[in-house]
Parts: sequence; C-alpha cells; structure tokens
Amino acid sequence: MSDTPTPRTRFPKDRLEKVISGNSSKQPDGCWAWSRCINSRGYGLAWDGLKVVLAHRLSYEVFNSDPGNLFVCHRCDVPHCVNPEHLFLGTNGDNSQDAYNKNRNPNAKIAQDKIASLIEAIDSGESTSKIAARFGVTPAAVWYWNNKRNEHGI
Ligand SMILES: [Zn+2]
Repeated sequence: MSDTPTPRTRFPKDRLEKVISGNSSKQPDGCWAWSRCINSRGYGLAWDGLKVVLAHRLSYEVFNSDPGNLFVCHRCDVPHCVNPEHLFLGTNGDNSQDAYNKNRNPNAKIAQDKIASLIEAIDSGESTSKIAARFGVTPAAVWYWNNKRNEHGI
C-alpha cells in the first residue's frame, strides 16, 4: 500500500454499467433484482467509486439519462429492481402519490393465512407479478415474503 492517497474518482460509465448488470439478477417477470445491499426502504445501494448511491437511480442515469433533481420511480413497484426499462422520472408529488397508492408497507398488506400459499406459488415458479395480482398485493410484498421465508426458514 502506498502512503500517498490517490484521489477517488467516480467509476467511468462502462464500469458503472457493469456495477448494475453484474450485481442484479434477471427475473422471469423482467425485473433485475439487486443482489447487494438493500436499505430499510427496500432500495438497492450501489458503490459508484466515490460514494454510496441508490442503485435504481444509478441504473437510470447510466442506461437512460441523468435524472437530475427528479425522482426515479418504479413502474413494477419492486423497489430493489434496477431494470432501466422499469424506471421512469417523476416529480416529488408524483413519487409521494405513487408511494401512497402502492402501499410501501407490504407486511401490512397480506393476511397471515395467505402467506403459505403465496410461498407455494413462488416455489411453483409463478411470476412475481402474477402472484401479486392473484393475492391482491404488490410485487414488493411478494419479494418481501420470499426474503422473509429465507430468513426464518418458513
Ligand atoms: Zn422491475
């Protein structure tokens, strides 16, 4: 290790593209599920060489365009999805409305007795969006329970 610190720089665009595509896995329903850190609100966190950034924002910037001050929202309602095709720009108001409409607390949205059949559906290979529609919950809720099951060995 050298004693002289080299100034940190943000990764070049081609490396940032690899950060997104290399740390996400493509799902049958088209979502790119972020496989690294997820914050408490369910969003993926990425390292851009300089700082920790929201993975979906980085994806939007790298594959679409710089979102500037606008919010990057999900058409698919899977917060940790980084598929640039599932992302769109919204104003603060849009985002709040979006969050309000799509209840960000998936835990509260599903009855306990439905969880076992939901997990069965995941195991049977049914797509996240189909399961969500069938159970009347958001795809985020399906993800939530799929992750929970792994945690608790349901
Ligand atoms: Zn998606």
